[in-house]
Order: sequence, then structure tokens, then C-alpha cells
Amino acid sequence: MHELSIAQNVLEIISEQCIKSGHTKIDSVNLRIGRASGIMPDALFFAFNAIKTDSLAAEALLNIEEVPVTGLCNDCSHSFIVQEEYILNCPVCKGSSFQITSGRELDIIDMEVS
Ligand SMILES: [Zn+2]
Repeated sequence: MHELSIAQNVLEIISEQCIKSGHTKIDSVNLRIGRASGIMPDALFFAFNAIKTDSLAAEALLNIEEVPVTGLCNDCSHSFIVQEEYILNCPVCKGSSFQITSGRELDIIDMEVS
């Protein structure tokens, strides 16, 4: 499961940050995940909650902000947003040549420790 290794990564990073800042408990962590990242938020919640039990984040609340996919059309230069996971073509000219400008992120925005 893809999300399990991501959850482990996130847990490692936030635990390290927590210790570095001299704290012993993680209260919450906020993630930003693009819809084109291939990560399923539900699976990530599940994985995080499953592995957090013996860590500094045992009682941490995970918040996930989903970022829509945005593209820039190479043919008509139109910038557009889609709610789907994948862009198939430009909604204006139906061209299939475009760049994905956001929606692939996996960022730890911030966390609360105590
Ligand atoms: Zn276009």
C-alpha cells in the first residue's frame, strides 16, 4: 500500500521536528495533497491512524487539505481547474497538450506540538 509508506514518512518527519523543537507530543498535523498526486486521503488517514499509536503522534489529529488539479493549455494558453484526478483535455479548445501546474503536491503545511 502506497499510502502506508507515505504515512510512515510523514510520521518520521513530524516526530523529528517535534523532538528538535523540544516537545514531546504532536497534537495535530496539516497536510496538503494534490488530487493528481495519486494519494487517496481516506487510505492515508487509515494508514496514519494505524501506525501512530506507539509514537509521539499517538493522539495527533490528521487534517488533509485537497488541492484541485490545475492545468495550462499549450494550444490556447487557457488556465483551468478540474475536480477530477486526471486532466484529459483542455475544457476550452479540447486540446490534449497541456501542463499540470498544480495538483501533484504532498506537503506538510504545519503541525501543533505540546
Ligand atoms: Zn486549450
